[in-house]
Amino acid sequence: MAAIPALWLMPVQYKRTARAAGNALFLVLSPESIVQSQNNCTGTFFLAQVCSARIKNDSKLRTPDFRLFRPHIFHQKNYLCPVMSKNTDELFKNVISHAKEYGFVFPSSEIYDGLSAVYDYGQNGAELKNNIKTYWWKSMVQMHENIVGIDSAIFMHPKIWKASGHVDGFNDPMIDNKDSKKRYRADQLIEDKIAKLDAEGKTDEAEVLQADMDAALKSEDLQRLKEIIINNKITCPVSGTANWTDVRQFNLMFSTQMGAMAEESSEIYLRPETAQGIFVNFLNVQKSGRMKIPFGIAQIGKAFRNEVIARQFIIRMREFEQMEMQFFVRPGTEMEWYKYWKEARLKWHLGLGTSSTKYRYHDHTKLAHYANAAVDIEYEFPFGFKEVEGIHSRTDFDLSQHQQYSGKKMQYFDPELGEDGKPYGNYIPYVIETSIGLDRMFLLTLMNAYEEEDLSTEEKQDSRVVLRFPPALAPVKAAIFPLTKKDGLPEKAREIMDRLKLDFQIQYEEKDAIGKRYRRQDAIGTPFCITVDHQTLEDDTVTIRHRDTMAQERVPSADLERIIGDLVSWKKVLA
Ligand code: ATP
Repeated sequence: MAAIPALWLMPVQYKRTARAAGNALFLVLSPESIVQSQNNCTGTFFLAQVCSARIKNDSKLRTPDFRLFRPHIFHQKNYLCPVMSKNTDELFKNVISHAKEYGFVFPSSEIYDGLSAVYDYGQNGAELKNNIKTYWWKSMVQMHENIVGIDSAIFMHPKIWKASGHVDGFNDPMIDNKDSKKRYRADQLIEDKIAKLDAEGKTDEAEVLQADMDAALKSEDLQRLKEIIINNKITCPVSGTANWTDVRQFNLMFSTQMGAMAEESSEIYLRPETAQGIFVNFLNVQKSGRMKIPFGIAQIGKAFRNEVIARQFIIRMREFEQMEMQFFVRPGTEMEWYKYWKEARLKWHLGLGTSSTKYRYHDHTKLAHYANAAVDIEYEFPFGFKEVEGIHSRTDFDLSQHQQYSGKKMQYFDPELGEDGKPYGNYIPYVIETSIGLDRMFLLTLMNAYEEEDLSTEEKQDSRVVLRFPPALAPVKAAIFPLTKKDGLPEKAREIMDRLKLDFQIQYEEKDAIGKRYRRQDAIGTPFCITVDHQTLEDDTVTIRHRDTMAQERVPSADLERIIGDLVSWKKVLA
């Protein structure tokens, strides 16, 4: 085993070259041309050679303390790295690098230096995302006979956003620092200060500040928000100064023009939530599906928000996906359904095997004007608990607003008899909403699955990165390897693959030693690796290697559909 070499920082003049290839900052492990990119890793080795050849002898660039190693990279060059992710910050960076290197998430428009807060999903990311969607859709639509799914258009009549309150009220308070020219959300600056006070044990001060901010936000007192920032000596993290502009409201909706004429009347919005597409189709679905209250309408789709600042990778994006369900109920029964969905949605999360200690409810004390109860389901990411899903009791606000703005009745006739023996009759239903961010769920799933596993023995240091996805969610269900590229083994492996691919997402690999192929599949979370060897030609058996235990067993190839099918079955997560 080679010793870990000294670390070298890439000279600034090469940063451009690196960035052009999609990497922000490189560290080169000299002299062996191994590069660790701080943000991502694709193209690493090629660039390593370019860079290290240029800086090899420049000892001034030596830096001793960069420790963001990822062991599996070093394996590829026979290096073994003793440093695993030391803390949660490193862990998060490693997951982001891993997501890029293994085709899960790429920065959007990367060859043009990226587009802020927009991301693309790669070949494995798209599969994982689809599987998360399927888990949600099956659980909400397939498992509930009174919930149906729709797919409404992103473009909608602009009056919808007036009715929903988004044109007038979907704002964030923003503030600029005049020295750094950086823009912030005023409430987030104050929240950071509250978190700092909490961390220092000054909980009383934190509470006073929180109450002060809540009051200012509620009354939309922007001047007061600025005073809070100034009075609490909140400075810009970049310039360190308190040279702030006034706080202004910033509407988060993207607008564009529909048709050729740029008239004001042709201005439309990219939807900031999928929910309104459900509300405006309430009557269509109820009538065409003969739905009886209580019933739900589910939808998965893109939403767009011009977030003032985007942070934490795919947690806060400008284009993202939501999985929302609006459950229409009889007025007066909403709190019982709210309780039901609050519990049901947490159960859905836990169905994936995640420890319940990673989740918590966060009840809203400050409610939106349309809600009479609201709770967030939060997950503990490396940077703290963050909302993944919201459950809101939205009263009859949305349907009433659409009734008023469209002039169309949004009522339901309830023939059931009430306690007084009379039918409940016509009313505007109340709504419980469950709204989960697909991208946040994706990150949660990835973080939860990611493990840097030390496999060292007394004789040998070893490690692997493995994504322990619930098998139903794994992007690739099984990989099939011929032991060698000759003797008819590839043909036999392909024959088995042609059979299995009818049921499962399968990958075929014949390059490199079997051990390396295992590691590559571990890194994308494939639950099974199937090896076809010479014995297969004689008795039609194969070895199957399990991702989590790394145990191998010999099984008849005819049993593969059953073995794989049992483990990756949706029953495992839905039942
Ligand atoms: P936050 O307070 O984090 O901005 P929110 O309360 O505005 O979120 P909702 O409007 O309730 O979020 O949207 C429902 C879900 O959509 C959220 O729980 C989250 O998972 C997801 N979501 C909202 N905004 C974004 C975004 N900018 N990027 C990615 N996901 C988002």
